[in-house]
Amino acid sequence: MKDLQRLLDNNRRWAELNAQQDPQFFASRAQGQEPKFLAIGCSDSRVPLEMLTGAEPGEMFVHRNIANQVYPSDLNALSVLQYAVEALKVPNVLVLGHYGCGGVAAAMGETPFGLVDNWLGDIRDVRRRHAHEIDALPDESARLDRLVELNVMHQVLNLARTPVIQMAWRQGRRPMIHGAVFGVRDGLLRTLVTEVCTNAQADELIPLV
Ligand SMILES: [Zn+2]
Repeated sequence: MKDLQRLLDNNRRWAELNAQQDPQFFASRAQGQEPKFLAIGCSDSRVPLEMLTGAEPGEMFVHRNIANQVYPSDLNALSVLQYAVEALKVPNVLVLGHYGCGGVAAAMGETPFGLVDNWLGDIRDVRRRHAHEIDALPDESARLDRLVELNVMHQVLNLARTPVIQMAWRQGRRPMIHGAVFGVRDGLLRTLVTEVCTNAQADELIPLV
């Protein structure tokens, strides 16, 4: 209960502070949402997407899973995507990976972890495809960092190929897709690929992933 009580106390202070600074803070948000971003991130507790980008409530629609993946068969992610693109009409989708990702690290090695190995299969494929480049790097940390980046670009491509995005682009609508990596060691975001909003741009990613 102690752990939960700390969250409840923090929440009360947060709500009071926001209401003091802006009496309409919650009333205006209760009217609806118009987020500028759908962010797809990792479940890792060190990567709180709104906190590290300073996004206020209402600015970011969020989906998180292990290693920020977009599987074409993942009904959860695809439902979030469809709602964000078709109902909320978000102008941007951001895939955000992070250095030191445990999911990507698990996909680097051969150690079996059980059920989660099914979830990591796609990243293992990316690792195999880029074995030459990754194995040439000087140490395990550099190899993991590179696979984190390749995974983000691969997920941007997966996203671009979903029927939801294809339909939106065909109708001349956004979103633009961006890929970035968060550094848990320095707290900084680094963009890898930005403003992908055509199939030609997505196809250019293929040699990279
Ligand atoms: Zn992670």
